[in-house]
Amino acid sequence: MGYRILQVKLPTNYSDDDIRLIISKKLGLSDFSYQLEKKSLDARKKNDIHWLTSIVVTSGHLSSNEYTEPESITIPYKKRGKTVIVVGSGPAGFFAAHVLQLAGFNVTIVERGSEVAQRSLAIQRLEKKGEFSPQNNYAFGEGGAGTFSDGKLTSRSKHISSERLYILSEYVKAGAPKEISYMTHPHVGTDILKVVVANLRQMFLNNGGEFLFNTMLEDVLIKNNRVEKVVCNNAELQADYIIFATGHSAYETYRMLIRRGIQIGTKNFAIGHRIEHQQRLINLAQWGKESLPGVKAAEYRLNTSTSSGLPVYTFCMCPGGYVVPAAAYAEKSVVNGMSYYKRDGVFSNAACVAGVHPDMLLGHKCTASEILDWMDKLEDQFYNFSNNYVIPAVKAIDYENRRESKEISSGSYRLGVSPAPLYNMIPEIVSKALSEGLNNFSKKLKGFESGVMMGLESKTSSPVQVIREKTGRCPGFDNLFFVGEGSGYAGGIISSASDGVKCAKSIIDSL
Ligand SMILES: Cc1cc2nc3c(=O)[nH]c(=O)nc-3n(C[C@H](O)[C@H](O)[C@H](O)COP(=O)(O)OP(=O)(O)OC[C@H]3O[C@@H](n4cnc5c(N)ncnc54)[C@H](O)[C@@H]3O)c2cc1C
Repeated sequence: MGYRILQVKLPTNYSDDDIRLIISKKLGLSDFSYQLEKKSLDARKKNDIHWLTSIVVTSGHLSSNEYTEPESITIPYKKRGKTVIVVGSGPAGFFAAHVLQLAGFNVTIVERGSEVAQRSLAIQRLEKKGEFSPQNNYAFGEGGAGTFSDGKLTSRSKHISSERLYILSEYVKAGAPKEISYMTHPHVGTDILKVVVANLRQMFLNNGGEFLFNTMLEDVLIKNNRVEKVVCNNAELQADYIIFATGHSAYETYRMLIRRGIQIGTKNFAIGHRIEHQQRLINLAQWGKESLPGVKAAEYRLNTSTSSGLPVYTFCMCPGGYVVPAAAYAEKSVVNGMSYYKRDGVFSNAACVAGVHPDMLLGHKCTASEILDWMDKLEDQFYNFSNNYVIPAVKAIDYENRRESKEISSGSYRLGVSPAPLYNMIPEIVSKALSEGLNNFSKKLKGFESGVMMGLESKTSSPVQVIREKTGRCPGFDNLFFVGEGSGYAGGIISSASDGVKCAKSIIDSL
């Protein structure tokens, strides 16, 4: 059996027959199979938008072998008699737990929220009636923060290729479409992610893992450089290893850890708003037409430097998506974005944020506790604006010119928007940079200024960082690890899950 790799340019609405015809013409074959290895949209020239693909052709009539299967991770199984508690079932916690369970550890996942189906009902109650559930919301509950998201599975990190491959293959086993393994910008959407999260849990349980839902980790008891016990729902639990994967929204958990002497510092992060546009407008700007057969919805990623030195960029764009109330605690207001697999909503949204350091916001060298308190207050202020989950909003063109908008259509945000001087609701250093950024973005993407800036986007990344080793181990501790976004060393589904896998591998290798 031989293998050839072909670089093939395809029309956006290509069919399987088109690919077969191209291969048989190029290689003179009739008997072959093929698989896509890479696929990305080339929209640089609006009159020639096409897919760029890399295709692996397999045939008994080929003598050459140009294809080497990329390497995933290997998990050595052995009955080990060691116990692990993983706190948090987001991508980082779940994948740390999953790999350790497959390697022969006895693993328990402790999760403050409920199973994804119940969590989903709580989110529906929030969006329909404004009823907030403290343990089941866009931040907390099975699957972690990104379960109700656009499900983008991209990562900019270059050092996680084998982990990424492994995670994507587990996602495919759990029901994600195979295309995520070859698309340059893979995404699955909330509808598929919910299924994937439930199926991954079943795989973990089938392998002997234990899941404790509705179980909040409240405290850690430390003795002789070890976590002796953890306190969950007033009961004490023990394990050989404790892995924290609590994400970056669990402020009371951070505060408890700081009280217990865990070292947590501050780091750069980003803050700003969500910007929403008609998806039709983004398609027009990016493709020169309102729709393109074979492609769901156009994307964008913009960045610019500003005169204050703060970078301004768009982040986590959700084509055909919805702006959602993503606060982790009651009577606080934070927004984020989600979409479904089809990305067929009439709006698009993205974070429009400025990169800052906590010290700039507080005006002095601050501690992790201080920036967490500051963030808490800011989220309160955004909630207090309407005293409910209606979010303050302003047209982008008005934000740029620092004037209020007379009226605003509610867009995709189901709980409603209200005109507000949004630029006065965050520190001036940020709002000024954002105004300048918006002006630059309007020159890069036609019609960008017609968008609406909404609410507070404060969770693109963590403002704090646990002092830990590369493996996730907390220095000075035998058995305490921090992984994922909450540790401050990862952000996004894939990078957080990879951080969990790396931590699990380091524990396996250490034995
Ligand atoms: C609405 C939204 C959309 C997003 N869209 C995307 C996207 O499209 N692509 C992308 O890559 N990223 C996206 N993100 C970011 C992504 O979700 C996070 O980077 C990622 O989930 C972080 O993974 P994690 O496992 O480190 O933490 P989390 O996913 O935050 O998981 C932490 C878990 O710990 C649990 N927990 C917290 N405290 C405790 C405690 N004391 N006891 C027990 N359990 C606890 C929580 O309930 C939660 O399940 C999105 C985030 C949001 C909120």
